[in-house]
Amino acid sequence: MSARPLLMIPGPIELSPGVQAAADGPALSHTAPDLIAAFGQALRDMRAVWQAGPDAQPLVVAGSGTLAMEMAACNLLDPGQHALVVDTGVFSARMAEMLARRGAVVRRLSAEPGEAPPLAALEQALAAGPLHAVFVTHVDTSTGVRVDLPAIASRVRPTGALLVVDGVCALAGEAFAVEALGVDVALTASQKALGLPPGLALSVVSPRALEARAALAHPPPLALDWTEWLPIHRAYEEGRPSYFATPATGLVRALPVALRELLDAREGPHAGMEAVFARHARVARALRAAWRPLGLRLVPKEALAANTLAALWLPDGVEPSFPAAVAKRGVVIAGGLHPAIRTRSVRVGHMGHVTTRPELLARTVRAIGEALAEAGAPGDLDAALTALERGLAS
Ligand code: PMP
Repeated sequence: MSARPLLMIPGPIELSPGVQAAADGPALSHTAPDLIAAFGQALRDMRAVWQAGPDAQPLVVAGSGTLAMEMAACNLLDPGQHALVVDTGVFSARMAEMLARRGAVVRRLSAEPGEAPPLAALEQALAAGPLHAVFVTHVDTSTGVRVDLPAIASRVRPTGALLVVDGVCALAGEAFAVEALGVDVALTASQKALGLPPGLALSVVSPRALEARAALAHPPPLALDWTEWLPIHRAYEEGRPSYFATPATGLVRALPVALRELLDAREGPHAGMEAVFARHARVARALRAAWRPLGLRLVPKEALAANTLAALWLPDGVEPSFPAAVAKRGVVIAGGLHPAIRTRSVRVGHMGHVTTRPELLARTVRAIGEALAEAGAPGDLDAALTALERGLAS
């Protein structure tokens, strides 16, 4: 076992050496020329990573993904306005709760853990009455379910409702493009597939979303108000110092490094985000092939299984404390999160830097296979490692 445990939870994730070095640098003022340059570059690069048009507004705020969700809820809707939440797990439920606290009239379109609401149910919900906004969790980290975002977007767009995507466990890991899908708010957090330490809440918002904010009768709390944050973002992008609330300067310095690593990716016929998406898909396929000989089944149906993490059923007789047995072997995986399946499932993150490191993926499969054998549920570890290797080479 190596001295430092390998982080294979669905965020925070392992950092690339380049991002690590940038994040570890000395203290930095929020008005330093280096910081202003990094902030401006990050905003430009965010449009490219999110695949958004030139009129989309990137926002970078110190905080976590939950903050970006809260900002979306209270900048888009006034109390009494109607919202629909496509509910695929704990984080969709959190979004619904935030909207309810904002005073919105919220309808949840729910599915069993591991399932997604059928499109026919979405169509019915959209037809049932005018909606101001529809909220979707691209990948719900509690169930490992990825929704069919292009299909959902194509149903929502003609209704005129705003479309908000929680991409915290998806963005920069799952195929996604703000402009092509017509997304109004695409939000994430720094500690997932973007590949930074935790601490930044990142959103890209459309002109329509900013219009919705401008039309609110009840402004959001000051610290969450996009209108307050806009001038400093515009200033930073134009290379001028500005202040509203102190940015997380060390993380902002590392942000363009992480974004550049994504945009500069080259793999086979793919470049940039297409290369990153293809790599995550290949790694997820290879790991799925490795879980099978270990006797591990995915919580979602294969067609709904995310490329950024695996939610796996624990085999019969294996205790919910299983992640501790894996941690003894130097690999940190996560326990179950969704209340309905918490004690019967575990979650393995596979996004960002580790997707470029086959030996770290093999180490993960080996640690899990050995821990299963110790728990009395041995699978065929050699077959799992061979399947992984073949999958990664394909
Ligand atoms: N949405 C999803 C899909 C998530 O996975 C998470 C975090 N696991 C969040 C929202 C909340 O993000 P944070 O923990 O950074 O506040």
